[in-house]
Amino acid sequence: MKLSILMPCYNEEKNIAPFFEECIKTFKQVKNIEYIFINDGSTDNTLKEIKKIIKKYNNTLIKCLDFSRNFGKESAMLAGFENSNGDFVAVIDTDLQQHPKYILKMLNFLENNPNYDSVSCYQEKRRESKIISFFKKMFYKFINILSETNFKENASDFRVLNRKMVNSIINMKEYFRFSKGIFSWIGFNTYYMPYKVEKRLHGKSSWSFFKLIKYALNGIISFSLAPLKLAIYIGFLSFISSIIYLIFIIIQKLTIGIEISGYATIVCLILLFGGLQMIFIGIIGEYIGRTYIEVKDRPKYIIKDIYSTNRGDLYEEN
Ligand code: UDP
Ligand code: MG
Repeated sequence: MKLSILMPCYNEEKNIAPFFEECIKTFKQVKNIEYIFINDGSTDNTLKEIKKIIKKYNNTLIKCLDFSRNFGKESAMLAGFENSNGDFVAVIDTDLQQHPKYILKMLNFLENNPNYDSVSCYQEKRRESKIISFFKKMFYKFINILSETNFKENASDFRVLNRKMVNSIINMKEYFRFSKGIFSWIGFNTYYMPYKVEKRLHGKSSWSFFKLIKYALNGIISFSLAPLKLAIYIGFLSFISSIIYLIFIIIQKLTIGIEISGYATIVCLILLFGGLQMIFIGIIGEYIGRTYIEVKDRPKYIIKDIYSTNRGDLYEEN
């Protein structure tokens, strides 16, 4: 099998058919291709639409992994990687924001440059509000300072990877998956290709501002221990300053004496350090909680059903 196309979908009932028509048109010339839909617990008619596609294109290799509930795009991508057979594997959104023609470009690049293992598309111009763009920029700056893994700004999940890289990703067993980090952490050579992001065809993006913040924090905690170390640094700083202050007070007592005052200062300091301690207990708690979940080793997704065109023979031919 030459190329596997992974298509995670969550509530894309209106997009899935036009998106797939576009794929069929684009990949007419490519032989040995398998399409893998991952229905990530959609609550609308997405599955029905996929079944229609399977019926219509019965001569093509199409599979649909139907999740038992919504596990998130990260899990959907992992399921796709684990169930793919291609020498090259592409990941694409099903809302036509990413045009399939770029997959051909990426594939072409990889075939002509065997020293590269993957191509990742990045948005030249972001199609979003200035505030979101600003926060994303800050996130990349921040995480690149905190983490030893290097994060490429604006790189998307819209990628084509070779089999070696896919196998390495499958070997990353963590439950909290932050694919931007995983793609960078495993190494390999990635080429970054600009692309033009389109408007979502129908429906709404599943990302809210709050979800983005949560996602960013997840990335930082997954790929850096810096927040834990921060407690040591701040603790050390306050320890040193309290020693200096202590010396100052002793000298003051011995020379001019101390009047009883400083009530406000004491209250402020208690609140300040009480607050700081709570924050750091929270941070430690976050890491411990994650360790607890990781130790449980629960599956990252559950496939309820698999639907496919009956073209297993296409695997044998190749
Ligand atoms: N998606 C998914 N599971 C989710 C959320 C989204 O599989 O829980 C899919 C969605 O159907 C789409 C892709 O991931 O194909 C990107 O989602 P979306 O368009 O909402 O994100 P954006 O393009 O705004 O980053
Ligand atoms: Mg989208």
